[in-house]
Amino acid sequence: MSQSPTYHQEYIAPAALDWINDQPFSKQYEDIYYTADGTDEVHRIYLKPSALLERKDLGACINVGELGFGSGLNFAITATELLQQTNKHLHFISFEAHPLDYEAWQKIAPTRASLQIYRVLADNPPPLLTGWHRRSFANGRVQLSVYHGNALDGLQDLAKRQRQPVDAWFLDGFSPPKNPDMWDLNILSAIADNSTQGTTVGSFTSAGAVRRGLEALGFAMRKVDQQPIKRSSLAGTLVANGAKQRQSTPQRVSVFGAGIAGCTVARHLADQGVQVQMFDPNGVASGGSKMDVSALHCRLLGDSSPGAEFRARAFHYARSYHPNFPGFSATGAVQLAMNDGELSKIRRIAKVYAPDSSATQNWLTYLDEQTLTDDFQLAGLGALVFPSAAIIDLPQLCHGLMDHPNIEFVKQPGVETDQQPFIVACAGASKNFANTQSLEIGEMYGQLDWIKPVTQARIPMPIVGNGYVIPGDKEWTVGSSYEYEPWTSAEASTSNINKNRRFIGDGKMTSLRHKRAPRCVSSDREPVVGKLSDMGWISTAHGSMGTSSAPMAAAMISSQLLGWIAPVSQRVETNLSPQRFIARQARRGVKHVGPKPG
Ligand SMILES: Cc1cc2nc3c(=O)[nH]c(=O)nc-3n(C[C@H](O)[C@H](O)[C@H](O)COP(=O)(O)OP(=O)(O)OC[C@H]3O[C@@H](n4cnc5c(N)ncnc54)[C@H](O)[C@@H]3O)c2cc1C
Repeated sequence: MSQSPTYHQEYIAPAALDWINDQPFSKQYEDIYYTADGTDEVHRIYLKPSALLERKDLGACINVGELGFGSGLNFAITATELLQQTNKHLHFISFEAHPLDYEAWQKIAPTRASLQIYRVLADNPPPLLTGWHRRSFANGRVQLSVYHGNALDGLQDLAKRQRQPVDAWFLDGFSPPKNPDMWDLNILSAIADNSTQGTTVGSFTSAGAVRRGLEALGFAMRKVDQQPIKRSSLAGTLVANGAKQRQSTPQRVSVFGAGIAGCTVARHLADQGVQVQMFDPNGVASGGSKMDVSALHCRLLGDSSPGAEFRARAFHYARSYHPNFPGFSATGAVQLAMNDGELSKIRRIAKVYAPDSSATQNWLTYLDEQTLTDDFQLAGLGALVFPSAAIIDLPQLCHGLMDHPNIEFVKQPGVETDQQPFIVACAGASKNFANTQSLEIGEMYGQLDWIKPVTQARIPMPIVGNGYVIPGDKEWTVGSSYEYEPWTSAEASTSNINKNRRFIGDGKMTSLRHKRAPRCVSSDREPVVGKLSDMGWISTAHGSMGTSSAPMAAAMISSQLLGWIAPVSQRVETNLSPQRFIARQARRGVKHVGPKPG
């Protein structure tokens, strides 16, 4: 019997704010986000009572859980203090039902200019999309996971999917009388489900119901004197046996394939202290990742499928990740609608992701025909503008990612072993490894051409859609062919030039140079990311979007190896899993011999 699809919403509305002297005030909860002594408060209520930075019993990475991400102050101060006072790593996990919009982040950032991490966060805050988001700071030493939505849903998901316990909780939602849902017994019990013996809890509230609730769950609670600022706050420690135990993490990992998929996962692990050996017999960035002009934009679907969910989140994560490495140029991009079908598609997308365009203008806006002509001098029935889209030089990026003391490169093919985890990121050649017989992946050739356009018209930014045109000072890049059977390079150049005539002009045009490579694609056009076997993992089939999908795939695999929740939902993990093909093939009556993946 087929299950009805679960309702899924992409956009989450931002917090409704009033501003009092540059300080946000929540209209929803009629409460302040932080007091005038906000910075001291983080120390007085959370850091000191929990002795978080002094504890000797914690691992190399401290896991903090917070209810109420708000304006990110607890996060930014905790991260800054940890970086200054310790040599530890931080995974800060927070929950927020009403995230700030980009404008609010920009307004608060100057008031926190002394916190460098805050500026980075405000430039790339988690987007107004539901579910999990991840940001990385300080060369990966600080990881931020934020769940946008109902805290109870997020906490229960964390209990299921994060193996590492939280070491310290900061309970910082709006006060219990103003936001009772944040403090009810189900929430407190989900906190206990994510804790281990010794986990601390701190809260600005001293409400008796919260104290009694936590005591009933096995926390030893005490009041912390906060005079003269306020009477007291709450602190406690889990003395009962915890629901979770700390997990060891791998010391050494092998990665096969030095394209963007392999290099991003290697770097994610190396940044967490894992020793990585990378194998590629052809050298770094020699496959699809040899393209030195690659568009980082978002091929949005605008439906409620897991594929749509993945694409939007992968784009935002990649956009926050790539600027840390060489090869990144911020350009923006425009996706034009040239016929009624395309117009209704981009309208649907705008409705799903940007119902309030003022809140999403940092990443997505819809333009009607008139505005497109007036503001961009482009002809079309309408357009989506992606102001944060970028161009990536993939070889430069890959070399930058590999430049890390924990990464060793070996110019040889990778060999599987059952001694340590390995990750297969060999595009189409991933099929040559064990446990891959069910994978429905193949190769599709493509070509990019660099030309000198004859047109005098200026294109303000790259145009993406059915292929793309990327203007440059001396030469433009046009592409890219999608060849079911490989063409000659001359055929591919003709196709690339002809399909972009309306932007590059009608005269004779020569291809100055070109680059060809295969792309690995799966039968359902989704990447293949996840566990292959006890020790084996895979990241492949990034198709035409590796620039945006590979960093998220790397975050998913590294999270699973480190015992963290992946920054996507369970349904996205299932949708990308290499095991998805087995179930489909079983329905078609295909039988596999040999061990089943993972
Ligand atoms: C013409 C063209 C234009 C494109 N434009 C864009 C774009 O604008 N935006 C975008 O996002 N994407 C674009 N793409 C897609 C993007 O380039 C790919 O998704 C991405 O490069 C795939 O990266 P990968 O690491 O999975 O594979 P690859 O880069 O192909 O890397 C796989 C590596 O595995 C190695 N390997 C093979 N066998 C072994 C083995 N046994 N052991 C070890 N290593 C092995 C290979 O040598 C290779 O280096 C384009 C692709 C093409 C072809």
